[in-house]
Parts: sequence; structure tokens; C-alpha cells
Amino acid sequence: MQSKIIAVDFDGTLCENKWPDIGEPNTELIIYLKNQQNLGAKLILWTCRAEDRLERAVAWCIEQGLIFDGVNENLPEIIELFGSDTRKIYADEYIDDKMFGFFDLPYKSSTNFLRKQFHFDVEHSPGIMRRLSRSQKLEDKTK
Ligand SMILES: [Mg+2]
Repeated sequence: MQSKIIAVDFDGTLCENKWPDIGEPNTELIIYLKNQQNLGAKLILWTCRAEDRLERAVAWCIEQGLIFDGVNENLPEIIELFGSDTRKIYADEYIDDKMFGFFDLPYKSSTNFLRKQFHFDVEHSPGIMRRLSRSQKLEDKTK
């Protein structure tokens, strides 16, 4: 059975966004990822950082105890599965500070699940609540 693959962003996700510097660690997320890795998940660092800035980010992650199975690259088993190294990094979970998974997909059951999850998250995150407010204003303008 294939392991769950988690792709995680760096700036604003694993750490506070202080790009090009490195902000305070997101300890809760780092613990989540370590626990997932202990349960068999594979981790990919999925970031726009490159060259020296990427090297510093990877070194910082190692200091936090995060060892990645890939850095901005697909895992070998995924390359084999697809028959090529796709440009999109394949994962089962994507964790990114830019994510805001609230699309009107035709798959209602998935959407309903997302809505339920979203409402749970909103109740527990003032940051998400602010984003919802902005998003709702945009949605109202397009009607
Ligand atoms: Mg980010």
C-alpha cells in the first residue's frame, strides 16, 4: 500500500512568513507532520524558495527535526506510477498558507464535506474568519 504523501509549504506555513528570512516555527504543524511521518506518511517540502534560500530552509527544517522525503520533487514511486515526472508535485495532502479550499465543485458530496470542515476551521481560527469575510465580499460583488 502506498504511503500518504503530504506536501507542505515553507514561508507562512512551516514558519511565520518573514521571507527572505525565516520566521518563528509553526510548532503545531511541525508536530503534526512528525506524527504523520511516524505513522508512515512521506513528506515533501513544497516551496518557491530556491538555491541558498532553499538550502537555509531545509537546514532550518532539519533543526526542527523535520526530514523530508523530497524537496520540490516527486517521490520515485509517483514518477513510476505516472510514467513520468509530472510538473505538479503529487500529494494526498497539500498544506499551504495560501490555500483556501472553498470552490464550487460539481461534486456536491466533496463540497459538503469541505463546507463542514471549513465551518469547523472557521470556528477555531480568527485568521480564517478574516479570509472568509474578504471572500464573501468578493462573492457578493460578483452577484
Ligand atoms: Mg507560503
